[in-house]
Amino acid sequence: MTAPRKGPGLTAQLKDQLIRQVMERRLRRAEPVADAWRESAGRAGEPAAVPESHWRFNLHPGFRRLAILREGGDMLGIANPYFRAHEGVAGALTRIDGRDYVNFSSYNYLGLCGDPRVNEAAKAAIDRFGTSVSASRLAAGERPLHGELERALAAAYGVEDCVVFVSGHATNVSTIGYLFGPKDLVLHDAFAHNSVLQGAELSGAQRRAFPHNDWGALDEILERERRNFERVLIVLEGLYSMDGDFPDLPRFVELKRRHRAFLMVDEAHSFGTMGRGGLGIREHFGLEGGDVDVWMGTLSKSLAGCGGFIAGERALIDNLKFAAPGFVYSVGMAPPLAAASLAALECMRAEPERVRTLQARAAQFLRLAREARIDVGSSSGVAIVPAIIGSSIGAARLSQALFRRGLNVQPILYPAVPENGARLRFFLSSLHTEEQVRNAVAVLAEEIEAL
Ligand code: PMP
Repeated sequence: MTAPRKGPGLTAQLKDQLIRQVMERRLRRAEPVADAWRESAGRAGEPAAVPESHWRFNLHPGFRRLAILREGGDMLGIANPYFRAHEGVAGALTRIDGRDYVNFSSYNYLGLCGDPRVNEAAKAAIDRFGTSVSASRLAAGERPLHGELERALAAAYGVEDCVVFVSGHATNVSTIGYLFGPKDLVLHDAFAHNSVLQGAELSGAQRRAFPHNDWGALDEILERERRNFERVLIVLEGLYSMDGDFPDLPRFVELKRRHRAFLMVDEAHSFGTMGRGGLGIREHFGLEGGDVDVWMGTLSKSLAGCGGFIAGERALIDNLKFAAPGFVYSVGMAPPLAAASLAALECMRAEPERVRTLQARAAQFLRLAREARIDVGSSSGVAIVPAIIGSSIGAARLSQALFRRGLNVQPILYPAVPENGARLRFFLSSLHTEEQVRNAVAVLAEEIEAL
């Protein structure tokens, strides 16, 4: 990056720094200091003694932090990059506020969201079943589409069975939260998704992160700790959503076997993007379905729908279908969504060239970005490439500058990543053209220079 632009007074960089210091101080002060209220209260239960922050949402610490961040954004002249309404299908192009952008913010990896065959399948499902199944599947919510989708996913993994949940996030929370308990240990990659952490929290198991992709460090933890717990779950992602890199899965399979632990792989971003046919990290490494105990994936990315799945042995799936609270006490998947993902899976299997185009575009993006000396971290050039900027303000400014130039790409700011890892994250799609990728990297490099 070049030296900061000089203004009439402070340099842009110094101004950012000062504003950040003020914001950080205010954020620290935003936590309510009302712990002592009970002592200062009069008689127990007297309503007037309860501090306002305990009964008003506008004083909730989360909301106060949000208000301070918004104020900071306004001071810096950074437009809110969140909740922008897209006015049609978000593919390689997307329309926002009446203007078309080349889009790198959506995980429509194979371009199957918006595909006429997928749309038709969803419409036909509505015509036959309506828009809701109006009950938990256990009760009256089972439809033939659910089983068809689950059998197709189980076949894609070469495992016995599969169950679909209505949300990808809830799939992890419910599955981990239900299967494990206080005598167990959940060991997850340091970059694991929030839903994994929430599931571990809910389970009551001890939870520990191991350094990103470091199977050696995990081996040491297992050597030391395995004997202190009943069940041990290791959780990885097939493709890490902030960094676009992936684990050396065969190493983890060997570890889990040796230490008699369970291995779970979240394929939210790797199913549809890795392997020759898009069958995920399993196909990439040529593993068997049974090498991993719990295959988890989402339907919201390559499969153009909404929801998540768990695939594995029958005992696992049966157990979840009859007892996991997030499945049993939740409505069955809506017919148009089940039909859309089933159709998307069929399209993916019939047209593996989509997967290869996606892989080629991502590899092109990575190569050009490296040539332009953009910090792409450890990205492997499969579907996701970050441009690491190293400050939240810088990343937000850069995203805004690209938006003005017709590129839609999301900034990823602290606390989603460490402050020095703040970045723009580019999702590639099989719909992108080589020209769009070339132009995007060129504009990105220019705007980083100008930052
Ligand atoms: N796992 C990972 C790795 C994710 O990135 C996400 C979010 N995209 C989820 C789970 C949750 O999936 P969904 O958004 O479909 O609920």
